[in-house]
Amino acid sequence: MAARAKTKKAKYVYFFGGGKSEGKAKMKQILGGKGANLAEMADLGLPVPAGFTLTTEACNEYYKLGKKKFFELIREEVEKTLAKLEKETGKTFGKGKNPLLLSVRSGAAVSMPGMMDTILNLGMNEETAGILIKRSGNERFVMDSYRRFIQMFGDVVMGVPHHDFEAELDEVKKKKRAKLDTDLSADDLKMVISRYKAVVKRDTGKDFPSDPMEQLFAGIDAVFGSWNNPRAIKYRQLNDIRGLLGTAVNVQAMVFGNSGNNSATGVAFTRDPSTGENRYFYGEYLINAQGEDVVAGIRTPQQITIKGSKEWAKSQRIREKDRKQQFPSLEETMPKVFKRLDRFRVRLEKHYLDMQDLEFTIENGKLYMLQTRNGKRTAAAAVKIATDLVKEGLITEKEAVLRVDPSSLDQLLHPVFIKAAEDKANKLTTGLPASPGAATGQVVFSAHEAELWAEMGKNVILCRTETSPEDIGGMAIAKGILTSRGGMTSHAAVVARGMGICCVAGAGDVEMDYKNKKLNVGKHSIAEGDWISLNGSTGGVYKDEVDTVEPKLAGPFGEIMALADKYRKLGVRTNADTPHDAAVAVKFGAEGIGLCRTEHMFFEGDRIVAFRKLILVAEEVKNLRRGLGLAEGEELKALSKRLEAPLSQYYEALDDLLPLQRSDFKGIFRALKGRPCTIRLLDPPLHEFLPHDAAGQKEMAKTMGVKPAQIKQLVESLHEFNPMLGHRGCRLGMTYPEVTEMQTRAICEAACAVKGSQPEIMVPLVGNVNELVHQKTIIQRTIAMVEKEKKKKLNVLIGTMIEVPRAAMTADEIAKEAQFFSFGTNDLTQMGCGFSRDDAAKFLGEYVANGVYEYDPFQVLDQTGVGRMVETAVKLGRKSRRGLKLGICGEHGGEPRSIAFCHKVGLNYVSCSPYRVPIARLAAAHAVLSK
Ligand code: PEP
Ligand code: MG
Repeated sequence: MAARAKTKKAKYVYFFGGGKSEGKAKMKQILGGKGANLAEMADLGLPVPAGFTLTTEACNEYYKLGKKKFFELIREEVEKTLAKLEKETGKTFGKGKNPLLLSVRSGAAVSMPGMMDTILNLGMNEETAGILIKRSGNERFVMDSYRRFIQMFGDVVMGVPHHDFEAELDEVKKKKRAKLDTDLSADDLKMVISRYKAVVKRDTGKDFPSDPMEQLFAGIDAVFGSWNNPRAIKYRQLNDIRGLLGTAVNVQAMVFGNSGNNSATGVAFTRDPSTGENRYFYGEYLINAQGEDVVAGIRTPQQITIKGSKEWAKSQRIREKDRKQQFPSLEETMPKVFKRLDRFRVRLEKHYLDMQDLEFTIENGKLYMLQTRNGKRTAAAAVKIATDLVKEGLITEKEAVLRVDPSSLDQLLHPVFIKAAEDKANKLTTGLPASPGAATGQVVFSAHEAELWAEMGKNVILCRTETSPEDIGGMAIAKGILTSRGGMTSHAAVVARGMGICCVAGAGDVEMDYKNKKLNVGKHSIAEGDWISLNGSTGGVYKDEVDTVEPKLAGPFGEIMALADKYRKLGVRTNADTPHDAAVAVKFGAEGIGLCRTEHMFFEGDRIVAFRKLILVAEEVKNLRRGLGLAEGEELKALSKRLEAPLSQYYEALDDLLPLQRSDFKGIFRALKGRPCTIRLLDPPLHEFLPHDAAGQKEMAKTMGVKPAQIKQLVESLHEFNPMLGHRGCRLGMTYPEVTEMQTRAICEAACAVKGSQPEIMVPLVGNVNELVHQKTIIQRTIAMVEKEKKKKLNVLIGTMIEVPRAAMTADEIAKEAQFFSFGTNDLTQMGCGFSRDDAAKFLGEYVANGVYEYDPFQVLDQTGVGRMVETAVKLGRKSRRGLKLGICGEHGGEPRSIAFCHKVGLNYVSCSPYRVPIARLAAAHAVLSK
């Protein structure tokens, strides 16, 4: 028995049609979407032309064995199933009194529209053409089918360029003064056919094959081969389609929509794929045409319903009389067929419980269904359809939640380009889709210019090699930001996402020429003031203006969000540093702030002056203090004296900063209306707050009342070779404890002033528990002081970021001192993988392309490596402190796959930029509901 089971040959060919299909809709993985649904439709009793599907496993064998061995393997099975098809149709393939012609089409498990190849009318030759003319009495139709076959087969199988055929067709049309293909007579088409054959001979040195079997196997070969054409590979890359075996090939009896005026072909959606509305049957058709004509745009397709047709005519400014005459609906031209098709629409939706995308052909008044599949749709339509299907009782709430792709919600939250306008636009290049939305504006090359131009009421796109915290003002008012360097966690990307500003980052083809105020990309040179447009959701950069529309957060969006909230377990907070961002995030459903980066507050207006004042003396204070520790006697006295002046300036600067920070926190607490707020103490290295160019240094020197050389020297003294691993995070707090104290005081005083505030103070970049103990002592002492002064009891949690691998591995020790952890997975990825956040974009693309990493680990959490550190820290942390609150605030907190991981390892919440909050809410629900 065992031996027999082993030798049982795999099944590579599945028959469908005549109510006895071998496949089912469930078998998409091996029959492809098209094949599986053709089998299912045929079994439902719908009129599907019979045929058979060569499986995706066959495609896999094709690539494994090579063409020759593969065809030896399947030839017999194909021939047997073909015989069955001949029996079912009562026709003989490519010969006999009633010849059978075939279509050969691709169809993978995930639809890849237009990416792979299709051949129609296969089996046509001089002999079959002659018989078909006799049978149909329609010579023109047969010749039209024949010339289409040569063109498709010649192109797909024999590699003759499409335009070589088009040139011949155009010449004949010109000669015959024909405007449309349909104006050509049978004789004209004969002329086209003989010219086509000559083109094949000229281009390939071979005759066009007339043997039907040879045509069939060559057709199958070409379609399997098209799985790996560059277009298809690119499509899979762009759409992150992975893990498929290959494409299936569907071989099906031809039906002819081009056999006269009682024939037609069309495509339709059971609901509107752009809005999700279910007002009428959305679709287009063409009389006397084959499928390719509808999409080819040669003739104007007509609408299926009268209602749709009238709306279309109105939008095209076509008068009702002309519409009726020239573009009547199917409902008008073939009312009976329309009714039948409409019944199928309802039936298929009820069967598949989703919006369907249909293809149909009408041959001499008889309707055939050629395809059904879940239709592609915009995010707005996905949300509307999912919520409507629940109301119609067709799907459950949980299914509705799973029907909407969390990432697609981006489209609903930002202004978007009008698709037709974007399609027509002149694309300059593509960068990283760093912050979603669409932006169009005039190019400027500095943050300062951006602010000046914006003051004049202009819309600007800030173009920089990369941005730095100094640019924040210009970034905040820009409509969009373009950088030529940096990845998805670069400064520009993080800040733009936080502010909800469209950003394309790391567009490596763009060369920024600040000196001449222009940017060069390919052959284009864009000067200051020229218009460009950015698509932050795709990374597209376009020349000139592209029209946008504002998003509508209409009813269904709220409904799907409410459902997501009902099922998710993870909390969702936001990363926000201003009252405005906090308010936006709350509007989008944030349950608090998970990361308030206090340093961002130091950049605006008078704050930067006060902070620079502090930095100006901080180094000196640090060095003198160090010397003080070692000195004795006279030296000690002298040093103490020397310390007096800088120390008083140091305290003065802290005194200046305190009220500014306090008012910032008050604003944020008010915007949060009692929601918790995790505030991180100062994190970046100090040099980031200083100007690096001569002009900036001169300006700072003037403000500080010192010489430019002193500023230059300060910048040089703060220079570090590896600042991300340098003097930053809690290391600053260790050196300058007064900064920790000032920030804690500002937080506590603001909390006393705003009722219901729930501050949580977070220490950054802890790697050793002793760092936390040190900082915690200062924080607790300051809290007690403020409590005493204000005579109020504060409930302030104290916790830490986990962003240094050592912290993750010693989380049990750290948890004894911390009431909460927030995983800073940006730094944890940087230090865990050893990839610089600022430089890795240069090579990570290759790493991903070569499969070293499945995804860019700064975008999608590297679950096996960095994730393991997170999981370890969760376990160790909770072992020491049972109620330890755990969150994530790295960029991964807004990325659906990473959110699923956070749910799995038991975090309490994720925190992400305001515009990602709805995405995170939905992704958190998916994490619960997906199997
Ligand atoms: C992190 O490292 O993940 C984090 C949130 O901090 P930042 O990005 O500010 O370094
Ligand atoms: Mg960090």
